[in-house]
Amino acid sequence: MAVILFGTTTKHKIIGVRGDKVECFHCHRKYAPSLILEAEYFHIDYIPLHHYPDRDVYNTVCPVCGFKDFIATYKAREISNLTVSKEIQDLSYLAVQKDKNKYDFVVMDNLTKEQTLIAPNVKMSEIKSSVRIRGGKPKEIIKVV
Ligand SMILES: [Zn+2]
Repeated sequence: MAVILFGTTTKHKIIGVRGDKVECFHCHRKYAPSLILEAEYFHIDYIPLHHYPDRDVYNTVCPVCGFKDFIATYKAREISNLTVSKEIQDLSYLAVQKDKNKYDFVVMDNLTKEQTLIAPNVKMSEIKSSVRIRGGKPKEIIKVV
C-alpha cells in the first residue's frame, strides 16, 4: 500500500537585499534589509503543486544581526524590485579561523570597513545557518585563516 502525503507546506524564498536603509530595532544599525518570502504551497508527497499567493508572508531580516521583522505584503511587493547596488551597501560574511573547528563569525561592511563580531568560537555549520538567516548564501562566506 502506498501512502500519499498531501497538504500545505511553506517554502522560504530569499528575494535579496531590497529597498531603502532602515534602522534595525535590535542592533540600531542602518542597512537595507534582506527580503524573505514565506510562500505556502499545496503539496503531494512534498512536491509543491499549487502556490497560494494570497497567503504569502514577507519578512525583512537585518543583514548584520539577523533580526527578523514582519513587513506588510503590499510594502514588500513595492520594495521587491528596488535592488541595492554595491556602491550603496556591501557586506561580507567572514569566518575567522581560531583553531581547527572554531571560527569567529564577523560581518564586515566593505564600504566603512567596520567589522562586527556576531558570534565568537562557533562551528562553520553555525556560521552557514547564521548567513542563511540573514538572507545570504553559505558559498559567499569568506574564510579568513
Ligand atoms: Zn540588526
